[in-house]
Amino acid sequence: VYNFAAGPATLPLNVLKRAQAELVDYHGSGMSIMEMSHRGKEFDAAIKKAEADLRALLAVPDTHAVLFLQGGATTQFAAVPLNLCAGPSDPTDFVVSGSWSDKAFKEAKKFSAASVAWSGKDGKYTALPPFDDIKQNPEARFLHICSNETIHGVEFKDYPEPRNKSGILVADMSSNFCSKPVDVSRFGVIYAGAQKNVGPSGVTIAIVRKDLIGNAQPITPVMLDFKTHADNASLYNTPPCFAIYICGLVFEDLLAQGGLAEVEKKNAYKAGILYDTIDASGGYYICPVEKSVRSLMNVPFTLAKGPDFEKQFIAEAAKEGMVQLKGHRSVGGVRASIYNAMPLAGVEKLVAFMEDFQARNP
Ligand code: PLP
Repeated sequence: VYNFAAGPATLPLNVLKRAQAELVDYHGSGMSIMEMSHRGKEFDAAIKKAEADLRALLAVPDTHAVLFLQGGATTQFAAVPLNLCAGPSDPTDFVVSGSWSDKAFKEAKKFSAASVAWSGKDGKYTALPPFDDIKQNPEARFLHICSNETIHGVEFKDYPEPRNKSGILVADMSSNFCSKPVDVSRFGVIYAGAQKNVGPSGVTIAIVRKDLIGNAQPITPVMLDFKTHADNASLYNTPPCFAIYICGLVFEDLLAQGGLAEVEKKNAYKAGILYDTIDASGGYYICPVEKSVRSLMNVPFTLAKGPDFEKQFIAEAAKEGMVQLKGHRSVGGVRASIYNAMPLAGVEKLVAFMEDFQARNP
């Protein structure tokens, strides 16, 4: 089956098979890694290697800490203003480019004086702003973006400069994390739920500039304070051990593929054949997203013939082993999520099906 789900999403088959082989007897210990102490030598080695491999993949500079957290990216919507703002009256700026950055903005309003610096709502979240159109408050503690809107399929190809006195850019990279190289040094905080490109749900990765750690608002729960996790190497309490272990296997796999520059080439090719099929369909399939910001990860489209045909399309595709193509409940239509682990063969099968479906239902 080819799984086009937006998350939890497909994982590399070789990673799943390796996890299966190691499941009941991890490295000859006679135990599963799920059963082991998070303070034992086996898990300690696994989390350290996961961090080292992630650092290698993204060339994370020494100025930044890598944290393995819990609570999903949604928890970071609160954690970011709690850690970066002195109090709820500190201004913060948000680019609202889709549902996820809108949720981040609304949560941040509880812990900072959050403003919308640009909104794509009137354009139904199909575009991103020219960077000069982002109305940044020079007093803002940070500028927040969502690098890839999972529901609307809008992806930043470059990043705006934060024009605030702190010079801090924050990004929710949940749905394009590790899909391409990123200059981590440009960001104060990058955070991402793992369950799209790098592992199972349950672990959230944050990459935080070290000088931003240690100034959390006094009301910050201990589990949301970056310092708690930085000081304890992500082992303050029981971490999501199995999820972190799987992320480690995925990082190894991405390195073995030649790193993120190679991964990006594959992703660009996969997305390219899908968008080309949509654009060559003569308006049969419609992707509303402006071409320059189309996501390499989440490809939303509709059928000009309407929702009934979309339903038929999704049902027939599922019968042919292409599952989870339904668009998000808030926008409808079709969405093909084609993260790192989606093989080219899956996208080739989908585009062949799209051409065939169109020929059969003109
Ligand atoms: N941000 C983006 C871009 C997402 O796609 C998602 C989930 O799909 C979230 C945040 C929320 O993540 P979580 O479910 O890990 O809280």
